[in-house]
Amino acid sequence: MTEIYPSLISTRGKSPRASFADVLLAGLAPDGGLYLPEFWPQISASQTASFAKSRYVDVARQILTRFAGGSFTPDEINADITAAYATFDDPRIAPLVEVEPDLFLMELFHGPTLAFKDVAMQVLGRLFSRALSKRGGSATVVCATSGDTGSAAIAALGGLPNIQVFVLHPKGRVSEVQRRQMTTSPHANVHNIALEGTFDDAQRIVKELFAESAFARAVNLTAVNSINFARIAAQSVYYFTATAQLGRPASFVVPTGNFGDVFAGEAAMRMGLGVEKLVIATNVNDIMARALNDGVYASGSVQPSLSPSMDIQVASNFERALFEASGRDSEWLTGAMERFARDRKLPLPANVLADLRARYAATRCNDQETTETIRRVHGRLGRLVDPHTAVGLHAAYKMKGTLMGPIVVLATAHPAKFPEAVQGASGAVPPLPQRLAGLYEGAEKFAVLRNDKALVRAHIEAKLAHP
Ligand SMILES: *Cc1c(COP(=O)(O)O)cnc(C)c1O
Repeated sequence: MTEIYPSLISTRGKSPRASFADVLLAGLAPDGGLYLPEFWPQISASQTASFAKSRYVDVARQILTRFAGGSFTPDEINADITAAYATFDDPRIAPLVEVEPDLFLMELFHGPTLAFKDVAMQVLGRLFSRALSKRGGSATVVCATSGDTGSAAIAALGGLPNIQVFVLHPKGRVSEVQRRQMTTSPHANVHNIALEGTFDDAQRIVKELFAESAFARAVNLTAVNSINFARIAAQSVYYFTATAQLGRPASFVVPTGNFGDVFAGEAAMRMGLGVEKLVIATNVNDIMARALNDGVYASGSVQPSLSPSMDIQVASNFERALFEASGRDSEWLTGAMERFARDRKLPLPANVLADLRARYAATRCNDQETTETIRRVHGRLGRLVDPHTAVGLHAAYKMKGTLMGPIVVLATAHPAKFPEAVQGASGAVPPLPQRLAGLYEGAEKFAVLRNDKALVRAHIEAKLAHP
C-alpha cells in the first residue's frame, strides 16, 4: 500500500491546498483561517494498543509521519524527533502518574522550559529549520506569548541560522521565571518585546501583521503559536500514549487557554482514538467554559490570574473545532468568525453546540479554588502542582461523578515555573530544577513597546535591518 499524506486546507476555504512543510513555515493560512488536514489519517485500535509497549519517540514518529511523510523522509523525521526528545529529562517524555485510584497526572513538563509547549516546539523547531534550509531564504518568526510559548520557541529556535525570532509578551503579566527564561537568552536572533497590553492585544497585533501581506511577504513572516498545525499534530501523540498505557478510553482534563492542547485531543479522536470526554478547564478567563455551557462564544476582558498562561479571552484554536463541528462548513465559519470579530460575541447554532458537547465538557476555576487545590493536593498527596495543573485537578475533582473511565489531568507546567503561587498556597518552595540554575544571574534583554501595531512593525523592521 502506498501511503497517502493529507494536504492541508484552510478553515476559511479560500487558500490553496498546502503541504505539511508549507504549513510548518507559514503558520496561518493566507485567507486568515487555520490549517487542518484535508482528511484525518487513521490509527487503528490495534496500532494504538501496540503503543503500550513502544517508546514515546517511536509513537511520535509513527503519528507525525502520517502528516509529514509527504514533506520529509522517514530518516529526517526520525532524526528530528529523536533529537527533540533527547532534550527531555525523562525518557518517557509524558509519564503518567496515578495520584489516586483512576486519577492520573500526565507530566508534560520534562522539556527544556518546564512546560508542555516544549513537547511540540522542540520537534517543530527542528523540522522548521530543515524545511527552511531545503527551501532556502530566511524566516521571521513572530510569536505572541502568555508566558510559556515564548520560552519554548526561544529554546527551540534560538541560535538557528536564517531565522529571527520576535516574542511579544504582555508586560508585567508573566511570572518572573517565565520572563527570565525568555529575556536571558544568549542568542542574537532572539528579540523580546514586553508589550504594554494583554496577551490578547499581543495576539491581535501578530494576526494584524500577518494580514499586512506586503510586510508579511517581505520578511517571510511565520507563526509558531498553536495556530501552527505542526504543533497540534505533535501534541496529539500523548493522548495516544496515555490511552495505550491505560488500556481503555480515558477522560482527559486539559487546562485550556488558546484551545490548542485540548484540540490536539480532538485531533487524536478524529484519527480514531477512543476518548470518553475532553474536559476544558479554564481559570476566570472562562470564554471556553461559557461557550460550551451557555452556547455563546463571547469574549470579555482579560483578568490576570494565578495561571497566566491561560489568561486569554480569544481562543484561536476554537476555530478548528467549530469548523469540524459544523461539518467543515467554511462558508458558515467565515461568516461566524467575522461576526465574532465585529461583535466579540457569537451564539452557537444548536447543531454545532450539540456536536461540541458530544466531545467536550467544560468548567472554570477561580484563583481561590486554584490555591485551595494546590494546598489540598500538597497536604493529601504530598505533591506540589503548578497553578495551571491545579485548575485541571479542580475540574477533575468537581466533575469526577460525571466522567467515565480513568481521568487523566494534563500537568502542563512544572511547579518551579510558578514558585510564588505555589509557595503562597502550600507554604512549600518547589525546588528549582537543575535546568533553571543560573536563571537569576543572566542579564535580561528586552524592549518595552506601547500597544500599537505600527510601533511593533517598525521595531521588527529596524532589528531586521541591523541584526
Ligand atoms: C499554554 C499553556 C496552557 C494552555 O494551553 P492552550 O493550548 O493554549 O490551551 C496551559 N498550561 C500551561 C502551563 C501553558 O503553558
